[in-house]
Amino acid sequence: MIKDCLISGETKVVGLIGYPVEHSFSPVMHNAAFQHLHLNYVYVPFPVASNSTLTQAVRGLFSAGAAGLNVTVPYKEQVISCLDNLDGYARSVGAVNTIVREQDKLVGYNTDGKGFIQSLRSEGVEVMGRNILLLGAGGAAKAVAFALGQAGVSKLYIANRTVERAEQLAAQLLGSTQTIGIELSEKALGTVVDQCSIIVNTTSIGMYPRVEGIPFPALMLTSNHIVADLVYNPVETRLLSAARKQGCKTISGLGMLAYQGAASFQLWTGQTAPVEIMQQVIAKMI
Ligand code: NAP
Repeated sequence: MIKDCLISGETKVVGLIGYPVEHSFSPVMHNAAFQHLHLNYVYVPFPVASNSTLTQAVRGLFSAGAAGLNVTVPYKEQVISCLDNLDGYARSVGAVNTIVREQDKLVGYNTDGKGFIQSLRSEGVEVMGRNILLLGAGGAAKAVAFALGQAGVSKLYIANRTVERAEQLAAQLLGSTQTIGIELSEKALGTVVDQCSIIVNTTSIGMYPRVEGIPFPALMLTSNHIVADLVYNPVETRLLSAARKQGCKTISGLGMLAYQGAASFQLWTGQTAPVEIMQQVIAKMI
């Protein structure tokens, strides 16, 4: 619900394209940020049920004056074919979550990786020169892995249930980072865990409603490890709670969610987003 929101003839519209979109936190997060800064913008979800109408939807919304769009599952890759240009990082990742109109061209960006790095920085964690263990090799893992590469990590292990996907992602990163794909098994994780100071869960294990899931054997963790989870519902996953009990510093997915949104917000409005407000409103919804 948009509280106290006055839509006028000058209101700029931004929104989210995906399917389904009704459970997204983005409308509440962005509308709270617009209101906080007294910006005359409104953020609206646009369900696009069929991929055959994606180009029509994207082009149509911008033709009708949209000031920007977010893109979510299942269109982050397919939407690239609807755009005129891609930012370099979005090109590397092969996925777009933010569209901006720049001099009548539609340009695709991906703010997920930046959001992740900023969520670590906000907790005082720098990744440069560190060895990192990434759990998962799906879409979010790819965005995070490229961002970690750009941020100068020393060595990146990518552990995935389907090991071929981990190896494929590792091969894509070669040249920028020393990267090795391994199996997401207790045996394989045991051989690398002591070499890594940060462990990042990018799998969906532990996400609502299957909150009992845990992607990593917690007894392998020591207080030297920092554990970050991309899953933000629940905010404290079983992995984070177990890691805390082992004495680890823990970082939830809420920060990444807010910071990737903040980066999109800045691309559309040119203004710095009120990240704390954005985090607070999402936390209230979970
Ligand atoms: P995705 O592309 O579908 O990838 C899912 C990953 O999880 C794959 O690596 C998959 O392994 C693994 N996986 C799923 N179920 C598993 C199981 N039972 N056992 C072992 N591995 C399993 O999904 P995604 O877009 O990357 O999203 C992953 C998670 O990140 C979701 O929970 C999402 O909500 C979260 N996320 C958070 C943010 C944020 O802002 N905090 C942003 C993006 C995503 P296989 O390859 O073997 O199938």
